[in-house]
Amino acid sequence: MQPITILLIDDQLMVGEAVRRSVCQEPGVEFHFCSNPLEAIAAAKRVRPTVILQDLVMPDVNGLDLVRQYRADPATKAIPIIVLSTKEEATVKSEAFRLGANDYLVKLPDRIELIARIRYHSEAYLSLTQRDEAYRALRKSQQELMEINLELQRLTNVDGLTGLSNRRYFEEFFDTEWRNAIRSGEPISLLMIDIDHFKQYNDTYGHLGGDEVLRAVAQAVKATFLRPKDLAVRMGGEEFVVVLPQTPASSIASLADKVVRSVESLGIPHSHSSVSDKVTISVGASTCVPTSEVCSSDLIENADRAMYEAKRSGRNRAMIDPH
Ligand code: GH3
Ligand code: MG
Ligand code: MG
Repeated sequence: MQPITILLIDDQLMVGEAVRRSVCQEPGVEFHFCSNPLEAIAAAKRVRPTVILQDLVMPDVNGLDLVRQYRADPATKAIPIIVLSTKEEATVKSEAFRLGANDYLVKLPDRIELIARIRYHSEAYLSLTQRDEAYRALRKSQQELMEINLELQRLTNVDGLTGLSNRRYFEEFFDTEWRNAIRSGEPISLLMIDIDHFKQYNDTYGHLGGDEVLRAVAQAVKATFLRPKDLAVRMGGEEFVVVLPQTPASSIASLADKVVRSVESLGIPHSHSSVSDKVTISVGASTCVPTSEVCSSDLIENADRAMYEAKRSGRNRAMIDPH
């Protein structure tokens, strides 16, 4: 807990001494005195008082001007100011309050009254700054928590090996897009992708080599589909799915061929593949215009069937579901 810290600005050393004597016996109170009013603002920033006692009549500087300056500076803006003046006129008092003073005492005040006011203003200021600090800390931890939650949410939707979306996110996305398509009457297409002879690849080059291939194929698949709504997913193992909302049957054959070619053109050697000396994929594609009578899993099954058809017909190719 910060101690009560007084900063007195007064050109008269006698006043400084009198106030010092009034407060020096008080427990938990620090006293600072600045007799040069030109240094008042700098002293307030250095000392960081919990209350300023401010004289009004001084050479070179008007105390009311200083009150205005404390209030204008973010570093001193909230520090309580008790004006300590010989003047008793109501106009001076009201001007002091108008400019931001919190209290007004006629010099020299009674010791008990001075200390009571110093304590009252300092404690109010300290609890205000503590509350502000607690609020700032709370805001910061809320912000951190929000960032962690966002990151967690991202991680639960992402496949750790390839960085593509995972099956969990696919379920959510596909369901949403399916319902959007029912509403809009637009077609939705789906590609099922499976790496050819991948077991053989692992057996030849090792599991870590296999993982590298999964990453490279994932990037090639992702890079092939550029529309913002397209979603590339690693469903598990060496199987990928691409969801293509608002994509009609007429586009699907060329897109499916394109992804087959882009994986082949990665040129990753696969010496034990019976299809090619490179890593290749087989793709099944399917399109439909969803209605509430059609089941969304049909689209997946049809694409899957087309993919097995591509495998059966020799791999490294795409087949389009005829439905
Ligand atoms: P096909 O051309 O008929 O698809 O043959 P395939 O060998 O690719 O198919 P199969 O389903 O028999 O084998 C898939 C292999 O994929 C089996 C497994 O070793 C490998 N695999 C699955 N997940 C991972 C993985 O995360 N990393 C690695 N390196 N290999 C994986
Ligand atoms: Mg497979
Ligand atoms: Mg395979």
